[in-house]
Amino acid sequence: MKKIFFTPGPSELYPTISFHMKKALADHIPSISHRSDAFHDIFQSTENSLKKLLNIPANYYIFFFPSATEIMERLIQSLVAKHSAHFVNGSFSDLFYKIALGLGKQPYKFETPFGNGFDFEQINVPKASELICITQNETSTGVSIPLQYIYNFKKRYPHKLIALDIVSSVPYPVIDFKLLDAVFFSVQKGFGLPAGLGVLILSPQAISVANYLNGKNGSVGSYHALINCLKYYEKKETPETPNVLGIYLLGKVAKDMRLKGIDKLRSDIKNKAQSLYDFFQHTSFYSPFVSDYNFRSATIIVVDIKNGSIKLREKLKKEGLMVGSGYKEMAGKQIRIANFPAHKVADIRRLIYFLKNYSS
Ligand SMILES: *Cc1c(COP(=O)(O)O)cnc(C)c1O
Repeated sequence: MKKIFFTPGPSELYPTISFHMKKALADHIPSISHRSDAFHDIFQSTENSLKKLLNIPANYYIFFFPSATEIMERLIQSLVAKHSAHFVNGSFSDLFYKIALGLGKQPYKFETPFGNGFDFEQINVPKASELICITQNETSTGVSIPLQYIYNFKKRYPHKLIALDIVSSVPYPVIDFKLLDAVFFSVQKGFGLPAGLGVLILSPQAISVANYLNGKNGSVGSYHALINCLKYYEKKETPETPNVLGIYLLGKVAKDMRLKGIDKLRSDIKNKAQSLYDFFQHTSFYSPFVSDYNFRSATIIVVDIKNGSIKLREKLKKEGLMVGSGYKEMAGKQIRIANFPAHKVADIRRLIYFLKNYSS
């Protein structure tokens, strides 16, 4: 039976992945040296494709890591001497905060209940904050922060660095990278790739801070300290043997997405989200967890299920429709549906059809 993964991540693979994987094997991509010109070309080509697809300024840097979680740790270690400031409204934003605690920093925390956004205009970050950390799309709750709020916030604090986690929204939001300093994601969600690759996009200001903090009191890390990654980046390399296949596949998929048209891809996501939310709005059996429309994510849709989600997920699984459970304590109460570029309009229709049958 055909299975479709609506799970938040890993998720359904992008449809061209199997073609590119076969080609990669035929071309011996997993065997080439990460110090060879063949690898430099892959690195450069993936960097170019990503910059074109996401409209990233030419003078921004792209570093590769094994995961988004590692990127959070590297950002705290290389860009923060003492105080980061965290907007916490779910498990991933909380993880970022806890990583700062774990590294012995003194992070500030601004918290709202799970399922809520933030009233940015009412929040003042302490003067000593060095890095403001925001999770644009909270995968645990389905809350998405409109980018305009973040840009307005940056205008109030033009000299503070902003880190933005876009793991479960990329490539949907249209991002103005010039207003941000450290934007990151991993590839097993919106890009529909196998897991094991994280991507960090850094502004020149972030690099200056990394340089400034290096050699000051406290460790900025070792082989993956941002300044060490920078040294290798200049050669189109990474400090260690990286996920060469992942970097190769990311470049290919970014190119495929651009050929398809990023605007089309984004409007498809918007329309699929609309049909899901419309359906859930009009039943009493299902209700979207995020009540404020303004903060509802288009890419991660979290739904409360009237009599619990365990049986529903089993039923859907029998149809090959794999949806996510609620996160942690919400596991048995909610389902989470990923709506990424790999999910076709027809897949979403099929899912709605079975959800409708189940509730009636
Ligand atoms: C999945 C996820 C992460 C963690 O990504 P890994 O690649 O597993 O480290 C971080 N932030 C958000 C918002 C996520 O959805």
